[in-house]
Amino acid sequence: MSSTVFFGSPRQARLEARETLPAKLDLILERLELRERVKDETVVIKMHTGTKIGYSTVHPVFVRKVVQAIKEGGGRPYVADVTWDAKGAEERGYSSETLGCPVYAAAGPDDRYFYEHERPFKNIKKWQVAGMIQDATFLVNLAHAKGHPSCGYGGVFKNLALGCMAGPTRSAMHDTMHFDRYWFADKCPDEAARKAIVASCPHSAIVEDKDNSRELHLHPEECNQCGRCLTVAPPGSLKIDKVNFHAFQEALAISTSLSLGTFAPGKAVHIIIANQMTPVCDCFGFTSMPILPDAGIFGGDDIVAVEQAVLDATGRLRLIEENLPTTMEVHTREGHPLRWLHGPYKDPYLVVDYGEKLGLGTRKYELVDVLPVEKIERAPITYITAGTLPS
Ligand code: SF4
Repeated sequence: MSSTVFFGSPRQARLEARETLPAKLDLILERLELRERVKDETVVIKMHTGTKIGYSTVHPVFVRKVVQAIKEGGGRPYVADVTWDAKGAEERGYSSETLGCPVYAAAGPDDRYFYEHERPFKNIKKWQVAGMIQDATFLVNLAHAKGHPSCGYGGVFKNLALGCMAGPTRSAMHDTMHFDRYWFADKCPDEAARKAIVASCPHSAIVEDKDNSRELHLHPEECNQCGRCLTVAPPGSLKIDKVNFHAFQEALAISTSLSLGTFAPGKAVHIIIANQMTPVCDCFGFTSMPILPDAGIFGGDDIVAVEQAVLDATGRLRLIEENLPTTMEVHTREGHPLRWLHGPYKDPYLVVDYGEKLGLGTRKYELVDVLPVEKIERAPITYITAGTLPS
């Protein structure tokens, strides 16, 4: 069995508004039958409004279209975002005036409104699903595709996985990357050797513990698994192991299953806009140059299928290496282009693999283009030589 994913290409045949992405979003909302499905529902639109001066999040033009469709269908929409970003959302153009519905902090103004769900994983025992997510009866997961320092890529999974949890759970999810031991101090008693390990990393991903210089810490977000540190570390003292990196992706899938599980079957849609894709996520508080060409809009009921479709589409694109920050490097050229950048253990496809195993959907999908780009046939050009032009 495969799932249907509706798709709007960023490309146009003609320079007409009806062929642009906001108009194609309308077509996707029609194909998803959103209006027909939200009557009398309390609809949370989960999105990330970004942070500080970032401007590459989902543009208010798209959000307003979703809000309009929900209202026309008789639903009661509101936008929810993590507490500290919802507070400054209006500075980036997200307000009730622009969107047509309120913007709420998902876990309340103090980040204390949540429901606990027990599900042991690594360092996490209980997960705190934000109250404004769990209280809704219908979910529109409205995400932006981009790179991510912890897992290579952020899309519809990450939007729910981190965005639907209260702050302490988000922190604990990042800490899953430190759960399995990677530093063995007894194998490296020599201070000079430890200093050499720290100095070997061009990305400052390994640091000394500020209270105990015998302990080293890895910042997995900064690490692209280049292996330079391993060439100077004494045998057995340091591991750069996929178990630490994969833990975060598994945590994303578990978290998503918990927040999504608070909605009845058929009461969630997933929409992702893959444009202005930057190397790292929108939490950084700024927007850098796009590193992949725009890939369009994808929407469907199956979160796994939607994410898989975006990854397949973006995986075929050229990494725009001339747009990369010069501190970043490409050291492998296998798989998805975001893996080239963030390293082999941050494979963007892992999250859909974990998600499928948790029963959240299927990686098999049928892509339905809601407005295929028309091929324009032209007669061959007959060149006019300069000498024959009338003066
Ligand atoms: S693998 Fe490379 S990026 Fe990661 S900590 Fe070692 S030197 Fe730094």
